[in-house]
Amino acid sequence: MANELILIVEDNEKNRKLLRDVLQFKGYRTVESETAEEALRLAQESRPALILMDIQLPGMDGITALKQLRSDQRTKKIPVIAVTASAMTHNRETMLAEGFDGYQTKPISLKEFLEEVRKVLDLHQGTGEAS
Ligand code: MN
Repeated sequence: MANELILIVEDNEKNRKLLRDVLQFKGYRTVESETAEEALRLAQESRPALILMDIQLPGMDGITALKQLRSDQRTKKIPVIAVTASAMTHNRETMLAEGFDGYQTKPISLKEFLEEVRKVLDLHQGTGEAS
């Protein structure tokens, strides 16, 4: 099954298009946001099965957004994969310690990215309202 709804949070239009195209090609449905603030609203409204969260965003950053998602009953069980620029100081270990369910660096490796999306979705199948 690959028709799950995935929320893409990314302020860079090219990156957003790439994620959208590769996910839709695989049969996933997508919804998008350029800011964390908008993403919080969309997460509550559309209950995505997974969120891809850019860390560097205008306004609220992705780590703060994750904390907000986790503090809300409606969104706390939705798995979130951090998507960060490789040049940044974050790494998989620190991002998982922050509470993210997965981690990918930009530029993304398509195969690895899709594998992680599938893995995180499978791990969270049936664990909450989001499924
Ligand atoms: Mn960004």
